[in-house]
Amino acid sequence: MTRKFIGRLSAVDTDFDGQLKQLLAWEAVANKQVEEIVAEILQQVRNRGDAAVIEYTNRFDRRNLTGAEDFCLTPQALTEALARIGVEEREALEVSARRVREYHEHQKQGSWRYTEADGTVLGQQITPMERVGIYVPGGKASYPSSVLMNAIPAKVAGVDSVAMVVPAPEGEISDLVLAAAAIAEVDQMFTIGGAQAVAALAYGTETIASVDKIVGPGNIFVASAKRAVFGHVAIDMIAGPSEILVICDGATDPDWIAMDLLSQAEHDEQAQAILLCPDAEFLDAVESSLERQLAELPRATIAAKSLMDRGALILVDSLEQAIKISNRIAPEHLEVSVADPESLLPQIRHAGAIFLGRYTAEALGDYCAGPNHVLPTSGTARFSSPLGVYDFQKRSSIIYCSPQGADQLGRVAATLACGEGLEAHARSATFRIKK
Ligand code: NAD
Repeated sequence: MTRKFIGRLSAVDTDFDGQLKQLLAWEAVANKQVEEIVAEILQQVRNRGDAAVIEYTNRFDRRNLTGAEDFCLTPQALTEALARIGVEEREALEVSARRVREYHEHQKQGSWRYTEADGTVLGQQITPMERVGIYVPGGKASYPSSVLMNAIPAKVAGVDSVAMVVPAPEGEISDLVLAAAAIAEVDQMFTIGGAQAVAALAYGTETIASVDKIVGPGNIFVASAKRAVFGHVAIDMIAGPSEILVICDGATDPDWIAMDLLSQAEHDEQAQAILLCPDAEFLDAVESSLERQLAELPRATIAAKSLMDRGALILVDSLEQAIKISNRIAPEHLEVSVADPESLLPQIRHAGAIFLGRYTAEALGDYCAGPNHVLPTSGTARFSSPLGVYDFQKRSSIIYCSPQGADQLGRVAATLACGEGLEAHARSATFRIKK
């Protein structure tokens, strides 16, 4: 692979497979030292509750908390922030929230049942989780869109209580984050972060009731803590660095495609931006545009490192080959910037979110299109899906036996139970068989 400030590959090269593997290699979020630090924090919070949460928050977020009341925000604080923000920002948050809510309403699953000829009824009952925790990152930047994307699906699912944690380094917290929490109708809000916040949600403290599931992105301490509490509570996923893969036929404005790649590269140095195109001249044009536009970005250093270490412009022999490569990568975000994207859609098997057509910038999906921006990364789109209402719903099986049904099923069950040597099972079933 040649590399000036972004990798250039050709899918017809004999060693393309090896080069692709190398490009996709990423050190998973696992680090022995971090795991040990996190294990100690989890243990301390589990044993000492609020006192440990306060201690770690003062240390890592440079706060001066003296009691639990210092990290609890009242609903009034959220509505006051909503009143403080600018009209345009409030409107943008409200439009985004409305669209996210509307989209997720379509995901609601209903209970179902059917009745057999002898009156036996079988079905599935859907119930929302009772209490969930959402982690909103806040160490280095603030993410109001993450508040909406995590809280709204839970609310649409009918979760009784949504508790949100967000760190407030040096006591500072963005009004936009608080306003988004007000709009998303978050029920409780705690200004704590890191592993101590995950522990508080998982195990509960004197002030914070434990939750059934923890969702939301975060840094390596948060990811490691979520991994450690999994099993005690449910979690959504362990998210890796953000990714975009663009398939372009070479007829979109190269500046648009370059900026779409940069929009992911600016997330962090580990983010990955890849373009697949059958037109070598177009790849040249995108490369020049990247170089030119990069220089104008405030986060140019981060984006440049991401492009240098993990980015690639790949020449393919056809759009069909591009789709095959994309399916192997299973990207978090896939832009299909071609004349007739619908015709390619049936061939796309693995992608977190698919953006169709030249006008559909991935950034629209990050903020306001409606679908969730919490998506499977690092190839996990092969087996998992975007965060959604279904993540906050559970399924219980329903079985009702009529006397005739109990008679018929009892005979089958008894035979199988005897075969397994489980006599009580067999008798329990046969007691209900008509004599
Ligand atoms: P964060 O809230 O995830 O982490 C801050 C917390 O980390 C602090 O409160 C502190 O408790 C803990 N911490 C920091 N240093 C520590 C140390 N030495 N020991 C123990 N704990 C320590 O905020 P962040 O750091 O800004 O990271 C946010 C992450 O979330 C970024 O990686 C960002 O890319 C990611 N993110 C992902 C998405 C997504 O949708 N995938 C969205 C937004 C953000």
